[in-house]
Amino acid sequence: MTKNIKAVYQGSFNDLDSIKISPLSRAFLFSDSIYEVIPFQNNSFICSEEHFERLIYSASQLRIPINIKEIRDEIDHLFKNSNCSNGYIYYQVSRGVDKIRSHIYNSDIQCETFGYLMPLEFVSKPLKVAVCEDIRWGRCDIKTTSLLGNVLQMNTAADQNCDEIIMHHNNIITEGGASNIFFVHENTICTPKLSNKILPGITRAILIDAIKDQRLPFQESDFNINILKDASCIWFTSSTKGVAPVEEVINLDKKLDLENDLMKQCQILYNQRVTN
Ligand code: PMP
Repeated sequence: MTKNIKAVYQGSFNDLDSIKISPLSRAFLFSDSIYEVIPFQNNSFICSEEHFERLIYSASQLRIPINIKEIRDEIDHLFKNSNCSNGYIYYQVSRGVDKIRSHIYNSDIQCETFGYLMPLEFVSKPLKVAVCEDIRWGRCDIKTTSLLGNVLQMNTAADQNCDEIIMHHNNIITEGGASNIFFVHENTICTPKLSNKILPGITRAILIDAIKDQRLPFQESDFNINILKDASCIWFTSSTKGVAPVEEVINLDKKLDLENDLMKQCQILYNQRVTN
C-alpha cells in the first residue's frame, strides 16, 4: 500500500516506507502536531495559499514555530517530481522529538516535519451518513492530528455501513467527521457558522464565496439538529470530496433529493472555481 509513495521527512526526500520516526516524537506521544491536506487537480494546486494560511494559524495556536518557506519548497518539490496530475499532499508538523516524555515540552526542541504525495482521482459519490454526538475537544478550529473523537464516531458509523457522520454538540449541528456540512431548508442554503467547534474548511470557504457572488439564498448560523428532518437535501464539503451529496441519513427516516436545484448549482459553482 505504501510502496512508491514519495515522501519527505525532516527535509530529506525518500519513499514513505523507508522513513523511520523516533518514539519520542511528540506527534507519536501526544498528537502534538498539526497538518494540512492540499489537493491538486489537472496539474495545479487548489487554493494552496489558503491551506498555507491555515497551517500558519494552526501553528500559531499551538505555538509551534514553523518555517513556511521551507515547507512550501518541500511541497513544491514533491509535486514537481511526481508525474501525477490529480491527488493531494499530506503535510504534518509536530512540535518535535523531545528529550523525554513530558506534558511540558522542552522549549528548545526543533519542529518535526513530514509530508507525502498521494495520487487520487476526485469522484464524489452520494454518501450514507449517521447523526451522532460531537464528543471532540473545544478547539476544533485548529487542524491538529488529535482526531480521536472523529475516529471513534466515524468507525461506529462505518460499522453501520456509513461513509460519514453529522455531529451535533448540545443539539447544535457542528460538522462532518472529515468535512463541513451544508443543507437546503425552506429554499435557503444553510451551513453552521464558524466557531471553535468546527474547522474553517477551505472548500466551505470557496463554496460560500461562489454562493455569495451568485446571490443565492444563504444563511450561516447555529442550527438545531432537528432542522435536518425538514431539509430537502444535505451535502458535505472537503478538499478530497469536493461537494458530496448525502443520499441517506440512517437515523432520520426521510428521503433526500439528490436532484435539488440549489445543491446542483453549488456542485457546478464549486467545479467551475476549482477548474479555472
Ligand atoms: N472538517 C473536518 C473535521 C475535516 O477533517 C475537514 C477535512 N480535512 C474539513 C472539515 C474540510 O476542510 P477542507 O475543505 O479544508 O478540506
